[in-house]
Amino acid sequence: MTTEDSLDVVIIGAGISGIGAAYRITERNPGTRYVILERRERIGGTWDLFRYPGVRSDSSIFTLCLPYEPWTGRERVADGDEIRDYLTDAARKYGIDSHIRFNSHVVAADWDSSTDTWTVTVQEGTTGTTRTYRSRFVFFGSGYYNYDEGYTPDFPGVETFTGTVVHPQHWPEDLDYAGKKMVVIGSGATAMSLVPALAERAGQLTLLQRTPTYLISASKYSRFTDAIAKLLPRKLAHPIIRFTMALFEGVVWFLARKTPPLLKWMLRRTAVQNLPPGYDVDTHFKPPYQPWDQRLCLIPDADLYTEISAGRVEMVTDRIDHFDATGITLQSGTHLDADIIVTATGLQLQALGGVRISLDGTEIKPTDRFVYKAHMLEDVPNLFWCVGYTNASWTLRADMTARATAKLMSYMAARGYTHAYPHLGDEPLTEKPAWDIQAGYVLRALHALPKSGTKRPWNVRQNYFADALDYRFDRIEESMVFGRAGESVPLAS
Ligand SMILES: Cc1cc2nc3c(=O)[nH]c(=O)nc-3n(C[C@H](O)[C@H](O)[C@H](O)COP(=O)(O)OP(=O)(O)OC[C@H]3O[C@@H](n4cnc5c(N)ncnc54)[C@H](O)[C@@H]3O)c2cc1C
Repeated sequence: MTTEDSLDVVIIGAGISGIGAAYRITERNPGTRYVILERRERIGGTWDLFRYPGVRSDSSIFTLCLPYEPWTGRERVADGDEIRDYLTDAARKYGIDSHIRFNSHVVAADWDSSTDTWTVTVQEGTTGTTRTYRSRFVFFGSGYYNYDEGYTPDFPGVETFTGTVVHPQHWPEDLDYAGKKMVVIGSGATAMSLVPALAERAGQLTLLQRTPTYLISASKYSRFTDAIAKLLPRKLAHPIIRFTMALFEGVVWFLARKTPPLLKWMLRRTAVQNLPPGYDVDTHFKPPYQPWDQRLCLIPDADLYTEISAGRVEMVTDRIDHFDATGITLQSGTHLDADIIVTATGLQLQALGGVRISLDGTEIKPTDRFVYKAHMLEDVPNLFWCVGYTNASWTLRADMTARATAKLMSYMAARGYTHAYPHLGDEPLTEKPAWDIQAGYVLRALHALPKSGTKRPWNVRQNYFADALDYRFDRIEESMVFGRAGESVPLAS
């Protein structure tokens, strides 16, 4: 076993959050010694893992990109490989790439209160060697889901199906679907981006959903962003475009929550206008819940409706009874023939990259702890967790988290503190779900994430503008305990 000592920060994950954290931490604290430990072989996280046809951003790329590294494309959404390349270029440009240790799967992190350091244990993918890193802080940019396995329900009879079953999280590079009969099961963002992309080559394509989803169509291009990008220098144009897009997404969310009938009417009208006359819009596109109870899915330029109208995609809203050798029998009795079945049935939530966390050797369950300002855990020193919004671009909060981390580190350095942890005190705190959307992957695993309280600074909100305001007037000392190595720290309880 080898050890790398004397680090200030270990960052876990080389996706948007990890790269963003490295940038912000070193921007505010030049000379910080850090590594990024990444279990994969490449930069990009989600945008490297997901390789299905049509994989793209669902929220605006102008808010998903890093605020200090303008997105130069024109389109409102971007393909997965473009985002991966963008992140790789940004990491190279800012000298972050040389700090990344690939094939480094973090399995454990233990806090030692006698030295105020974390020992992070890594299994190296290529050699199988176990290596440890010692650092003062640890930053989890490890995303929010299990990388090894997506979610697939137990479909009765799936083993009897003689065709191919594919989960979009592990799309086979060589999957030949040209001319094949395909059924895509799902109604989330993945199914909605995958199906139009498959339509051109698949022989017969069915989108099978149990429950409809609200779909919002927006043009790939925006006259406003085009005009701003043309008129102003990039450095000036980018924050304006970013703010406008964040505002637009915020307004749609606000409308959905405050005036659901209006938004429902607008979404239905778009469907009716883009689908063939007499199409059964209400069966396939009228969900039994309110907009934004679950994520609203973007269909750029109404692409899904176009494919349905052209006869290249058939929508089926029904329940699966069982799989058989040739396809799927539905509860209505209909049979869907298939050569390939794609289970776009979701993710498995996972906090902190599945890493075992312990304090002075005693394991703690992060999911039993309240979250402080959405990025630290109750009574856990020098640990940051980066998780984005469910109703706005991930990066909007990821960047705030990275800046808050950098600020706390600089505050501690100036005062000679070696540990800081948020502490709840004796006041009872009511618990609420950290992610208050009704999406299947959240409902299946309500206790997979650390807990949110109902009042600040323990309240995890899905409100970028309120958080941005709070961040501006943030009191770093609020509910925070500071100290130096050797002073007692509350341990696992
Ligand atoms: C298909 C899909 C589409 C999406 N579209 C959008 C969108 O349009 N807009 C939006 O805002 N969000 C979207 N999201 C959410 C998306 O995950 C975030 O946008 C963002 O990419 C998350 O970045 P991240 O760096 O926090 O996590 P990730 O991108 O998940 O990266 C985490 C990294 O940490 C590494 N890692 C994890 N655990 C360990 C460990 N134990 N040891 C070492 N390394 C580890 C992983 O290998 C990975 O590289 C989408 C998600 C999916 C799955």
